[in-house]
Amino acid sequence: MLDKLKNEYKAIMFGRNGMDSLNRALLGLAAIIAALQFLYSLISGRVGGMYAAAIGLVVVAVFRFFSRNTYKRGAENMMFSQLWAGIKQRRAASRASQAANPYRQNQNPYRTPKPPKAEKDAQRRTKVVVCQKCGQKLRVPKGKGKIRVFCKNCGEAFETKS
Ligand SMILES: [Zn+2]
Repeated sequence: MLDKLKNEYKAIMFGRNGMDSLNRALLGLAAIIAALQFLYSLISGRVGGMYAAAIGLVVVAVFRFFSRNTYKRGAENMMFSQLWAGIKQRRAASRASQAANPYRQNQNPYRTPKPPKAEKDAQRRTKVVVCQKCGQKLRVPKGKGKIRVFCKNCGEAFETKS
């Protein structure tokens, strides 16, 4: 019984285009449009014209399904597949380049923040000297010639150039 149906289907479909990825896309799009229209009608209580677009897509898919011009249908399907592959590739490429170069998008959460301006200025006007006795690092003013430094850690006094 099932075999008989299968054979009949094969006989009907012989030399016809049948299902391909373009038809699947058309039917999928039609289903999405119909669903959106259904929701819109539920909310607004009005019947919109989007069903016509969905039906149109289904009609095109059915026509392509039973079409005997498999050469032309195959070319259409190829064009669609290449277009779709191109879109997917471009999206993948842009995602990859963003992952490789997160600074361009300025979205890297691990980026260390720049030091505040005040801190930068302080670094420019001062220098760090090391206590000769205990090794404590001390920040001293810059450009004042020879100065006397008191270590805040051990109390040692020494002279240094600034
Ligand atoms: Zn010291």
